[in-house]
Amino acid sequence: MNKDAKIYVAGHRGLVGSAIVRKLKTEGYSNLFTYTHNKLDLTDQQAVDRFFETERPEYVLLAAAKVGGILANSTYPADIIRDNLLIQTNVIDAAYRYGVKKLLFLGSSCIYPKFAPQPIKEDYLLSSELEPTNEPYAVAKIAGIKMCQSYNRQYGANFICVMPTNLYGPNDNFDLQTSHVLPALIRKFHEAKLEGATQVVVWGTGKPHREFLHVDDLADACLFLMNNYDSPDIINIGVGEDLTIAELAHVIKDVVGYSGKIVFDTAKPDGTPRKLLDVSKLFNLGWTPRIGLVDGIRSTYEWFSKNKI
Ligand code: GDP
Repeated sequence: MNKDAKIYVAGHRGLVGSAIVRKLKTEGYSNLFTYTHNKLDLTDQQAVDRFFETERPEYVLLAAAKVGGILANSTYPADIIRDNLLIQTNVIDAAYRYGVKKLLFLGSSCIYPKFAPQPIKEDYLLSSELEPTNEPYAVAKIAGIKMCQSYNRQYGANFICVMPTNLYGPNDNFDLQTSHVLPALIRKFHEAKLEGATQVVVWGTGKPHREFLHVDDLADACLFLMNNYDSPDIINIGVGEDLTIAELAHVIKDVVGYSGKIVFDTAKPDGTPRKLLDVSKLFNLGWTPRIGLVDGIRSTYEWFSKNKI
């Protein structure tokens, strides 16, 4: 991408989109389009069409999505599958019809089967059943991948699909009902410290493993792939190592400086036991992450404390 290319980042207010915009600006990309939800509703096909017809972006990074943690996924499954299917269908199809040179579609590690062998290689997609707690989200994302690949095959488009592992960082959702585990635990330990609470409740058994990537590293990888990857095959983005939820809780407890107890609420679901991505394909292309987990959690905690959201 040239530094003056017209680039549209869909979902620029979210965790991923905001990190991509920060990264593009830092690297000197000056011709960025971002539209807030009020100005452009991506679930509205006519509005999306008008936008592409008027603005004619050359490149699209599709980071707009309806996302949520394990509880949100089971509480709002209809919203999640509908909004994601609408957003991605509208944007991908308009990108093709208005001649976008390249599009990057953000998937997720939860597209892979619940009991996929670990670490998860890209070609394990659709090899067995999905994890039920996020199946509607995963099915929507898989549809997005298949759509990009089909447009590449039938129309010669250059739409790439990246599968990030669990992400965290500034602008994450810290709401305890809808967030993912890492921001939820930052809030829980922070509030417990302020209130002098004797214990913090962590959902599930604490035994599932999760891999975490700082969103600034993800943004760096996305830009790297926009400039260096033109294959229809999906590609994983992660750090290549994981830890248990119990271990994560201890790391966050230490970063926050909380001295009480951790208890596990086993009535809450564990979700998929493990989803460590095989990142050898990406690493072999020459990209590796830079932000270690403890440093990343520390800076995210600082961001959370400053922004008090
Ligand atoms: P997942 O990666 O799609 O399963 O989504 P989450 O990030 O929401 O959950 C990951 C794991 O963390 C699950 O085993 C949850 O039960 C566990 N967990 C522990 N405490 C919390 C919490 O306070 N919030 C969330 N969302 N998950 C938690």
